Amino acid sequence: MVAIVTGASRGIGKACAVRLAKDGYTVVINYSHNDAKAQETLDEIKAFGGDGMIYKADMSNSEEVNKMVREVSKTYGSIDVLVNNAGIVRDQLLLTLTKENLDQCFELNVKGYFYASQACALKMFRKKKGVIINMSSVSGSFSLPGQSVYGATKGAVNTMTKTLAKELAPYGIRVNAVAPGFIETEMLEAIPEEKKEEYLKVIPQHKLGTTEDIANVVSFLASDNSKYMTGQILTIDGGLSLWF
Ligand code: NAP
Repeated sequence: MVAIVTGASRGIGKACAVRLAKDGYTVVINYSHNDAKAQETLDEIKAFGGDGMIYKADMSNSEEVNKMVREVSKTYGSIDVLVNNAGIVRDQLLLTLTKENLDQCFELNVKGYFYASQACALKMFRKKKGVIINMSSVSGSFSLPGQSVYGATKGAVNTMTKTLAKELAPYGIRVNAVAPGFIETEMLEAIPEEKKEEYLKVIPQHKLGTTEDIANVVSFLASDNSKYMTGQILTIDGGLSLWF
């Protein structure tokens, strides 16, 4: 069984790659810049006897995505699970928003998910079985000031998840999404400490989530334990969204 995890050189993607390898998948660790970090993810997997490879490809570039999927399929014979995780945040208020920020976010967070889903679904379709898991965010439903673009991309991911679930169900392909709240990764480094303290007061569990909290749910969604679930968005946020 083969799983591709995009953006797996660190953060949530890394935890998902390690967890899926523990579940027995051969894991393709995709990334776009940091070769050393991607290798660290693979080394961690190899250390417990897991299997996989690193693959550098910019997920916002359709040609690179198609090439990766083609080569992975040729190397391993199938693609069973795709975790669309690579994503960026470029928080800006509307009046200071640049076209570059807007384009970068939509190219990766939305179009990148479509490129990979289409390329992998074409392979899964032949087997009449497959799982696509999209990394959304609570910001897809309840956005904060400065997050209009990021929130819009994640809202698009939610809609895409539901629609693709309907389209692909007849071919045995399930599509679900995970919507994390605040998870301790480098992505949160952009948030000032005092803001984080404010958020911690509001989160009912009064703590940030760990990357493993997300990987555990991704593992469940990848497995047959969730075989009657498709088109769902699972929120993992310590209760944050209960306030919205
Ligand atoms: P992160 O720590 O910034 O890691 C991002 C990963 O994506 C890295 O492995 C990075 O690797 C890779 N990446 C960036 N651009 C890429 C591209 N063009 N092509 C391929 N890979 C690329 O982010 P994270 O916090 O783990 O977030 C992962 C996902 O969860 C994102 O979709 C994010 O929106 C979502 N999320 C995160 C949180 C949170 O609190 N952390 C909350 C809600 C949702 P390279 O630098 O090597 O390319």
